[in-house]
Amino acid sequence: MNMKWPYNNEAGKLQEDYCDVLVVGGGLSGCFAAIAAAQKGKKVTLLEKGGISRCGSSGTGFDHWEMACTNPGSKVDPLEMTLALEEEQDYYSNAIGHYIEARDGWSCLEDLEKWGGKIRDTEDEFKGAAFRDEKTKLLYAYDYNARYTLRVFGTTFRPALIKQLNKLGVRICERTEATTLLTTEKNGVKTGSGVIGFDTRTGKITVYHAKSIVLCMSRPARIWLFNGDIPGLSEFRPFQSIGTGHAMGWKAGMEFTMMEKSIRGEFSAYGRSFPPYGTGNNHNTWYAATMIDSRGVEIPYVDRDGNILKSVEERYLPAKGQKFFLKGGVIDEPKYEWRGPETLPFDKLMEMGYKLPFYADLTSMPEMERKAIWGLMVGEEAKTRIPVYDNYNSRGFDPKKHILQSYGTGWQSAAFLEQERQLFGAPGGIIHDWNLETNIRNVFAAGDSLYASDCAGFACTSGRWAGKHAAVSADKDFEEVDIELINNEKKRLLKPLENKDGYDWRELGLAISKAMQNYCGGIKCDDTLKQGLKLIRSFKEEQLPLLKAENPHELVRVHEVSDILDVSEMILCASLDRKCDSKPLSFKRSDSDETVADKENAYLVISKQNNEVHSYYRKHRFYGDIEKEYEAHEVKE
Ligand SMILES: Cc1cc2nc3c(=O)[nH]c(=O)nc-3n(C[C@H](O)[C@H](O)[C@H](O)COP(=O)(O)OP(=O)(O)OC[C@H]3O[C@@H](n4cnc5c(N)ncnc54)[C@H](O)[C@@H]3O)c2cc1C
Repeated sequence: MNMKWPYNNEAGKLQEDYCDVLVVGGGLSGCFAAIAAAQKGKKVTLLEKGGISRCGSSGTGFDHWEMACTNPGSKVDPLEMTLALEEEQDYYSNAIGHYIEARDGWSCLEDLEKWGGKIRDTEDEFKGAAFRDEKTKLLYAYDYNARYTLRVFGTTFRPALIKQLNKLGVRICERTEATTLLTTEKNGVKTGSGVIGFDTRTGKITVYHAKSIVLCMSRPARIWLFNGDIPGLSEFRPFQSIGTGHAMGWKAGMEFTMMEKSIRGEFSAYGRSFPPYGTGNNHNTWYAATMIDSRGVEIPYVDRDGNILKSVEERYLPAKGQKFFLKGGVIDEPKYEWRGPETLPFDKLMEMGYKLPFYADLTSMPEMERKAIWGLMVGEEAKTRIPVYDNYNSRGFDPKKHILQSYGTGWQSAAFLEQERQLFGAPGGIIHDWNLETNIRNVFAAGDSLYASDCAGFACTSGRWAGKHAAVSADKDFEEVDIELINNEKKRLLKPLENKDGYDWRELGLAISKAMQNYCGGIKCDDTLKQGLKLIRSFKEEQLPLLKAENPHELVRVHEVSDILDVSEMILCASLDRKCDSKPLSFKRSDSDETVADKENAYLVISKQNNEVHSYYRKHRFYGDIEKEYEAHEVKE
């Protein structure tokens, strides 16, 4: 190992560790899972690859809580919301997760408040604003009538969670990369027995034995989008999260669904644009900013029915006769019934003679709305607090005086090619039952690692739910672990240290993204997918063993490339098995076989067992009567 490395050299050291419930990934879902299991009296260990103080997608904050349908002001009930989302997503929706989210979201927020997070406008900064409830001091976002989405002070949540983890005695092993899921098999039933962890500073390997496990490692990234010069900007989610949970599950025989779904790149900087939310726009964090063209002419917002809205206030209200509208991260192209106010489409604006570039103009907005966007939203959102809000402010940006350019041809800050794809919105992931248990007994999952998941509220509520179930399942003995697998993994994890003349992880990372763009791009067919699979497998067998690393940091990057190869394999296999086009899955083939179109309306479930890939279709709405099942599976306090 490179002698300049500032930490102890423990590469080759192997140690063992025991707990009741092991939570892997310390983001929102992981923290909630660990807290819930510890509250049930279990000995809990939390593994986190990064530094615990600000790790995860929301470690630096988030600006809105999507679905708190039981908050005191909400006019939408949890079932109504779940059904709306199901319909919106053409039933490729995670109704189990969304119902838990919609029903339990408010109580998770109350927990966060108890632990020290800020969910109300306690300083009366927004007194009198249309989006504030004067009695509760809650601040709403998007649909000010339906009031199921809350503006929150997301930067305060992480410290509150850490305090609570410490208070409950959760053992936090930060800077520990989980690499391998250990399982045992008896009478054809697989059960989780532990996880291998790699110390990202010293190289030490630990076998974490656990009675039950909760996987909370978010979703894959850097499959199609990778820039070797600025890898940290390659994707929207944090650099640490590249889908190791998926990769380790895949290798252990876990079932996944919707892995053939990918969308044309949307939220990534990838070296060709400004980071998300760093430019003026009209959606999500910046909703519903006034937009103007280069002449200063205002760009109209229209309601669901196409009526041009005359005031800023109307941008936050449903159309006449509409009960509520959907907005936020999980909503791509809402169906008519759920469509909220939007600016006219880009092509239409061009036709009408609007001139580029466009700008977000907060100067003309009512003061409370301006402060809500530039202040609360941009100030509390992950990835914007310091690089955008603090940085622009310190350089003199004043939202009362200045307008902010919207780069790119459309509204997004980047325009991507069809083959530059991403797992974004509500992509595929781990399939689970009502306990959020996977097909591997005693292995649970939560947050962004679940299929069709998204958002902070989903992560917190599913984490809490999974943590409780993991605690119940931990009332048993430890399972045996596979010593041979552990020894092989140890060799695999450390091997790049021996490759003095090997090549850099970035080169293979780039090759993978190019291979996926070429062979699993916007339009797929059996021939290209098969070539892609062959290439990805050859990378794994022939190129991966040639990568070098000089220290644990570089070793982690090599392990990630290995995991990205597994995830790519998973995506290619799922794509090969879905034979017909699917609009909701953004899946298009040049050789679509219409005779199997009935399969369109079912989840394609894939897994790898004994090195063979298996797949089958599972009917939509397999989760039964939503309300009854929720109640039957709720772990009571
Ligand atoms: C910039 C940004 C803004 C967002 N804004 C909002 C918003 O305003 N409202 C909203 O509802 N949602 C928002 N989201 C989405 C929301 O933050 C996520 O859905 C949510 O945080 C997911 O939580 P999670 O626990 O599943 O994953 P994460 O919070 O991402 O946590 C995953 C954790 O796993 C760790 N990990 C990964 N691999 C390993 C490994 N091998 N071993 C150990 N640990 C590992 C990672 O380091 C990370 O800490 C935003 C996301 C981003 C990226």
